[in-house]
Amino acid sequence: LSRVVIIGAGIVGTNLADELVSRGWKNITVVEQGPLHMPGGSTSHAPGLVFQTSPSKTMTHFARYTVEKFLSIEKDGHKCFNQVGGLEVATTPARLEDLKRKHGYASSWGIEARLVSAEECFKIYPHLNNDMVLGGLHIPTDGLALAARATQLLIERTSKAGVHYLGHTPVTGIEQDGRRVTGVSTPSGIIPADIVVSCAGFWGVELGAMVGVDIPLLPLAHQYAKTTAVPALAGRGINTLPNGLNATLPILRHQDKGLYYREHGGQYGIGYYGHRPMPVVASSLGVTPKDVDEQNMPSRLDFTTEDFDPAWKESQKLLPALQDTEIADGFNGIFSFTPDGGPILGQPSHLDGFYVAEAVWVTHSAGVARALAQILTTGRSEIDVSECELSRFEEVQVNREYVTETGQQNFVEIYDVIHPLQQRMSPRNLRVSPFYSRQRELGAFFLETGGWERPWWYEANKDLVKSLPPSWKPVERDAWSAQVHSPISAAEAWKTRNAVAMFDMTAFHRFEVCGPGAVGLLQRLTTSDMTTKPGTVTYTLLLNEHGGIRGDLFVLRLDDDMFQIGANTATDLAYLTREARVQQLNTPGQWIQVRDITGSTCCIGLWGPRARDVIARISTVEVSNKGLPYFSLKKTVLAGIPVTMIRKSYVGELGWEIQTSAEYGQRLWDTIWQAGKLHGLIAGGRSAFNSMRLEKGYRTYGVDMTTEHDPFEAGVAYAVDANKKDDFVGKAALQRLSNHAPSRRLRALTVDDGRSMILGKEPVFYKGKAAGYVTTAAFGYTIRKPIAYAWLPGGVSGGEAVEIEYFGKRIRATVKTESLYDPEMNRLSQ
Ligand code: FAD
Repeated sequence: LSRVVIIGAGIVGTNLADELVSRGWKNITVVEQGPLHMPGGSTSHAPGLVFQTSPSKTMTHFARYTVEKFLSIEKDGHKCFNQVGGLEVATTPARLEDLKRKHGYASSWGIEARLVSAEECFKIYPHLNNDMVLGGLHIPTDGLALAARATQLLIERTSKAGVHYLGHTPVTGIEQDGRRVTGVSTPSGIIPADIVVSCAGFWGVELGAMVGVDIPLLPLAHQYAKTTAVPALAGRGINTLPNGLNATLPILRHQDKGLYYREHGGQYGIGYYGHRPMPVVASSLGVTPKDVDEQNMPSRLDFTTEDFDPAWKESQKLLPALQDTEIADGFNGIFSFTPDGGPILGQPSHLDGFYVAEAVWVTHSAGVARALAQILTTGRSEIDVSECELSRFEEVQVNREYVTETGQQNFVEIYDVIHPLQQRMSPRNLRVSPFYSRQRELGAFFLETGGWERPWWYEANKDLVKSLPPSWKPVERDAWSAQVHSPISAAEAWKTRNAVAMFDMTAFHRFEVCGPGAVGLLQRLTTSDMTTKPGTVTYTLLLNEHGGIRGDLFVLRLDDDMFQIGANTATDLAYLTREARVQQLNTPGQWIQVRDITGSTCCIGLWGPRARDVIARISTVEVSNKGLPYFSLKKTVLAGIPVTMIRKSYVGELGWEIQTSAEYGQRLWDTIWQAGKLHGLIAGGRSAFNSMRLEKGYRTYGVDMTTEHDPFEAGVAYAVDANKKDDFVGKAALQRLSNHAPSRRLRALTVDDGRSMILGKEPVFYKGKAAGYVTTAAFGYTIRKPIAYAWLPGGVSGGEAVEIEYFGKRIRATVKTESLYDPEMNRLSQ
């Protein structure tokens, strides 16, 4: 039986202990540096507002589970959740619009929500100022989590089940034998363990340092204040109930000014995000005192009144009843922020048995804990956790400079209306391809992902828009979808389909997997036969044991023991690295090296019907369909530059990905550029690329499909080799799954009016009922209609009508058979 040590008895650690106990785990110790009755972390003062709905399906589902679970934790007739409902109000037209978008998320993720008029807002929340509110979003199942009480009740119930709690016991080190954890050290000795989970909240950085892992979270102070008693709320029976139960008013958000409110038995509690970011280094807070109380705990810093002044004035305006009150008590409370706002869950690739669950709000606590308990028990969480993975960050995104800057930005922007393509201004230019200076000369508009600058379109192509044939003319967009967009993309798609274009593919992850154990590793982890001959390209899937998709890869066999992997995320690298390490230990001599070569190489996608003409000008290399067939590769030389030409295309046109070592990159770009002039070559950006990719129906892992989906539902069963003899991860599950018709499927939709845009995550209505959600959307320039990929019930057939809700408006769309462009693959295989 595995011995588990959980570090931290906050809301995350205690929930994890509980989730493990309920799955039959026995040998669990929770180690807490503070006193157990009030450990002194963020949970000890959390006001516990739970607004469930967010743009993220995963986070919304975590929140929904937290609500369900806290409603079920009960003692003395009192639950740990007070379902007072949640109200978000708009005081600006932009926010009012955004609430419609949020209402869409609620429908997509299955949360009951209602857009309400200003009058209804006053009915639901009579204290509001009539003159300020334009409307709201009401979510009846939101409410107040009694986090500190839930923590105590979970300690009580798991102690009874045999969980051992050690209070006043700081973990000072993690014991390891070089490859796995063996225990934790404390001032009173070593506690042996097979699994150690750090649920240390904003102390996570310090815990990570004990095992050499940079945990990308930033502790920040955030202001919370309580008013004196509101006369209108005085003398009610509920005022004396425990904190959290002493409220009947819905939780309230006034995001236009960074404010939220709850009731504390006749007093108001006010949380404020509008102040300057106040970063904290957890290790500077010193030792947790023996006697923690409400006023004296490490996560509670002194209130800085001057920072709160604007909040107080605004609050008295929004809630005139507060004009008869004063601030009774306030503090600057500490909790964690991350570069992308998500929690941090998972394990580092170099050490077995060490896990983290940090930067987690009370709102998501039970959901995150359940996910981790499921991972520890069965190897998979039923809710996809890819956007929470510790390994999702690139190396450049985990250093203190990056985390400090981006964590503070996330604090500042936490309640802002954010466009899906909105970019941070800084830090930028962290990673640029060798083509960067040429791209700038062409007026590239760059967007950043994973630290990489990627051209979205090129201003140099602006004049082409005028010469577009009438059927290619871009349609007018609504103001929201017109943001971070240019009609130039239409011209770039047109040129790709009718002449030739070059796309910078450098930012796609490239890993090298080599050594005598390489083929065995890929054979074991992927759905395809990897014993193919050198020179082949295979599109394949990584599955979990349940048949859920954990990644999709392009595998290039360069030599017998040398593969190159085209992958989506840094998580793929962590997974391959960990699996290679484990396999080597089990089969000594069969060494495997997994190396990230993304930055040391670069790649141009040269695609379009005239791509061969361009190559013919610079090389005599045989690139005919016979000489270099679809899904094959060739190491060769183009105008003196050593390259690998890979015959594949994301955009569905003839051409290659041409890869070279970084130092030759600029010369490769210039050479192709010169050679292409006569053939109408342009540089194309990712906006056109995405449009053409969707026209071909190529899925994006993490957006269109995740671990929640199997290959049959996701429409990628063609990447599973049904005749593969060797066993591979997920094979048995796939065999089971193949016997059932999928209950849901990822489908291609086109918008009937040919112009109404959607951007992704919108709910889809089938026969009048919310039945699914959009994953990716783009305007399909070639097919002249907006395209949306969406998850829908399995029984929906091609040709059926659906509606997509966009900012409260219903857009009619039709389910289509794939691919929308060149389904016979004629363009690719000529
Ligand atoms: P914690 O509660 O901090 O628990 C971590 C524990 O680990 C601590 O008890 C600590 O003592 C222990 N520990 C650390 N290092 C060690 C070590 N070396 N050895 C042993 N033990 C160790 N969230 C919401 O969802 N809704 C809200 O309305 C809300 N409001 C907030 C308002 C304020 C003012 C603040 C500051 C936060 C708020 N949050 C809210 C966030 C929420 O409080 C936290 O995200 C959540 O409580 C974190 O829980 P946790 O268990 O991860 O961390």
